[in-house]
Amino acid sequence: ENRDIGWNFDNSFSTLPELLHARQDPTPVRSPKLRILNKSLANSLDLDVHALQGDEGISVLAGNKIPNSSIPISQAYAGHQFGNFTMLGDGRAVLLGEQITSSQKRYDIQLKGSGRTPYSRGGDGRATFGPMLREYIISEAMHGLGIPTTRSLAVVTTGEAVKRETELLGAILTRVAASHLRVGTFEYAANWGTTKELQELADYAIERHFPNIEANEDRYLSFLHEVIKQQAELIAKWQLVGFIHGVMNTDNMTISGETIDYGPCAFMDTYDPATVFSSIDREGRYAYGNQPAIGQWNLARFAETLVPLIHENQDRAIELAKEELSTYARLFQTYWLDGMRSKLGLFHKEENDEALVKDLLMLMKKYQADYTNTFRGLTFDKDEAPELYASSEFQAWRKQWHDRLEKQSKSKTEVQELMRKNNPAVIPRNHRVEEALDAAVNNEDLDRMEKLLEVLKDPYSYTSDQEIYAQLPEPSDRVYQTFCGT
Ligand code: AMP
Ligand code: MG
Ligand code: MG
Repeated sequence: ENRDIGWNFDNSFSTLPELLHARQDPTPVRSPKLRILNKSLANSLDLDVHALQGDEGISVLAGNKIPNSSIPISQAYAGHQFGNFTMLGDGRAVLLGEQITSSQKRYDIQLKGSGRTPYSRGGDGRATFGPMLREYIISEAMHGLGIPTTRSLAVVTTGEAVKRETELLGAILTRVAASHLRVGTFEYAANWGTTKELQELADYAIERHFPNIEANEDRYLSFLHEVIKQQAELIAKWQLVGFIHGVMNTDNMTISGETIDYGPCAFMDTYDPATVFSSIDREGRYAYGNQPAIGQWNLARFAETLVPLIHENQDRAIELAKEELSTYARLFQTYWLDGMRSKLGLFHKEENDEALVKDLLMLMKKYQADYTNTFRGLTFDKDEAPELYASSEFQAWRKQWHDRLEKQSKSKTEVQELMRKNNPAVIPRNHRVEEALDAAVNNEDLDRMEKLLEVLKDPYSYTSDQEIYAQLPEPSDRVYQTFCGT
């Protein structure tokens, strides 16, 4: 039978200046096999799950067939990678278009690993199975945690070998995003485009992501403000769950405020601001504790690109941009501290709250407590960090915290309810992710991954099947480093 899949593409990015994109079809692959499909996401995109799983559906997810309404392109962008400015672009991705849903929502549908493009430089344009599944798991886990993120619709293997250190199975991830506009897209336009082209890009981004500021007189300054706000809020959310992105280059920072690019990212286990998992981040530029400051650094690069649009007097424009940038630290601090209050069951603000939070973090570091499980333990008044609990310092802190809780007229149940909503029962622990990937890649067993995805879907539900996923690894299973597998 031939059921309609439901593709309904608009291709608005293609109407932007040619500088910003190149017409590019995906390169067909030999024998595509659908390995995982996100059915609930497919439904919310108005795609027919049954048809997507058929030959025609899989052909599209593999890049072997282009839906009628699609005009495939690769996008140009630049970026600061570990501080160094470089020309980049979609070296292995193709945007099929923007899926318009029946509720008039617009989502980028991108194939990642779909072959070479004009931006591939020395690369082969391909991706491998393990890393694409990894992106699928972590992005869906982030969504479950309530953190803005690109989503993963499907992973298809290609049946073709990809040369890395060894030969690996090729795969294509279908990524769904509010858009793929990055700070790096603006860096690209600011460096190689005219002011008019830059303005077209900015107007496009405003219309797509911040339509409420379109009428503002100082719209480009408002635009900067909105992006700063989104990123302050996003990075605060990362900090609150212990997420370490690992490659916070400006090309990996979106304009929409979604988390993007799941490479060597990982969740912190033992609390320590210096935590770095990525094997390529030797100097700890993107360490957990540095993320908020790097956010500001990236936003400064973004602000620079907007200077020509902010005011005709460039000195004045720089002044205004700097002023706007200076709001980031306060915004971040507010989002972060509000989030920490909720994690500790505090409903209103008091002056000493920050000190209370910082004292706890200091003790968690000193006693090498697991970040997630310490908050889990506090939520249910259970000792989930033995060495921390055994210390008199922590006992004294806990007394202070209880005194603080008593000052609010909230019942124990209300406090616990607030804490439960803000302290996940499970995170995608590194050893669990590795175990699921190993089964999928080496044993063709996707069940472990499906099971893991299931418990990560609602990490705040505290169901009994989540219990074993909250457990720490045996010392021999502990993951200390993640690699930029591609
Ligand atoms: P990332 O470090 O994932 O943000 O990627 C940095 C840049 O490298 C982007 O421009 C990617 O498109 C490009 N890239 C990564 N892997 C490949 C590949 N296998 N072939 C071509 N380009 C790639
Ligand atoms: Mg990237
Ligand atoms: Mg990447």
